[in-house]
Amino acid sequence: MKYEAVIGLEVHVELKTNTKLFCGCRNEFGKKPNTLVCPVCAGMPGTLPRLNKEAVNLAIKAGIGLNCKINKFSRFDRKNYYYPDLPKGYQTTQYEMPLCTDGYIDIGGRKIGIERIHLEEDAGKLIHEEDKTFVDFNRSGVPLIEIVSRPDIRSGEEAALYLKKLRGILLFTGVSDCKMNEGSMRVDVNVSVRPKGLSFFGAKTEIKNINSFQYTQEAIGYEINRHIELYENGKTPENETRRYDEKSKKTYTMRAKEDSSLYMYLPDTELVPLDISEEEIDEIRKKMPLLPEEREKMYVKEHGLSDFDCENILQEVHFAEYFEEAAKLSKDAKNSANLLITQIFSLLESDKVIKIKPLRLAEVSNLMTDEVINSSTAKKLLEKLWEEDFDVENYVKENKLFQINEKDVLSRYIDEAMEENQKIVDDYRKGKKKALKALTGIVMAKTRGRANPRLLNTLLNEKLG
Ligand SMILES: [Zn+2]
Repeated sequence: MKYEAVIGLEVHVELKTNTKLFCGCRNEFGKKPNTLVCPVCAGMPGTLPRLNKEAVNLAIKAGIGLNCKINKFSRFDRKNYYYPDLPKGYQTTQYEMPLCTDGYIDIGGRKIGIERIHLEEDAGKLIHEEDKTFVDFNRSGVPLIEIVSRPDIRSGEEAALYLKKLRGILLFTGVSDCKMNEGSMRVDVNVSVRPKGLSFFGAKTEIKNINSFQYTQEAIGYEINRHIELYENGKTPENETRRYDEKSKKTYTMRAKEDSSLYMYLPDTELVPLDISEEEIDEIRKKMPLLPEEREKMYVKEHGLSDFDCENILQEVHFAEYFEEAAKLSKDAKNSANLLITQIFSLLESDKVIKIKPLRLAEVSNLMTDEVINSSTAKKLLEKLWEEDFDVENYVKENKLFQINEKDVLSRYIDEAMEENQKIVDDYRKGKKKALKALTGIVMAKTRGRANPRLLNTLLNEKLG
């Protein structure tokens, strides 16, 4: 029998606001436990929430970026459950009337529907140490959006594509920093399998809190196979929540699936419903930055960049802004993109900060375009610029780094190299084509890396016959 997987994703994303959703505490990661807490986010009796407008605006931005309908009227509900990291005994969220609905993400020609985006608060965090458990409320009340896809995804690969696109849109709109290692983007997956062509849903497993796109893809692949194997053996998978273990690359049962009716959602009585005007939405729409897809189109059309170039540059907002700045100053933006990806990106450290001014990249690139320097000099210049800033043209002049474009000058270097390396020359003439590469390297070294590579290749071929 042929099977089809039905996959839906629920993605929680922390919003990049200055303060929390219902109080003035700072929204920051990595601070000493319980230093960003006040009576409101600690759930003390008698306190009242005050909604953070910045969070609402970011959620609307996400909705626009994800092609959603922005609902002018939405409401907060209380999701009641007991857990030590939830001091109020309920989470303030949007259940019945979410802020955004009916959007989609295009993953290369196929649209994956987005059912809803709702605004809610994050819970605190439990820290387990040996036989003790501590609670850190710094995260309690941090604004989140939950983005719920329709069950339109059919494979682990599609899920990874969807997540990549989603991350790009949220990053470039400034909605979230999407740092998975800091928990500001968290993925829950729903997987079921059914005979192809039928429209019912099979037994569903949920995999919670997967912390990379790669693992999401792997976990889905594993689950699909597990379900098919069970069906083939006349068994049925359980409706349950499982976790993915990255080491064994398998999923394991955590608990039976909880039913949402157990949560007892009730309308929140302390927050007035959200009432957003058309003007407010238009105002945000007008200020939307260019999304990755639009930028990609521009890079291809205006600068002749490849898919590979675009994918690399559009990984981070500041990479894209850097490239765009350098491109404006470059005679050949494609060459600047090549230098950025092959040379500068290889110098990046874990903070991903580029320590060279865009102007300097353009200067180096332009000297290459004008055939004043060659690529190996460009590489050396960029490595030096990474350490300290300087005027590139002056530096090239002072250090005589000009490319050798004169035929007679380069010829002299080649003759010298051939005389000194008779064995390599003989090898080449006996048919060892690799010897050409060795000679090229020797001449390059003699010229301190300044030979015009094209001219060197032509001359060497001529001389070797
Ligand atoms: Zn607070």
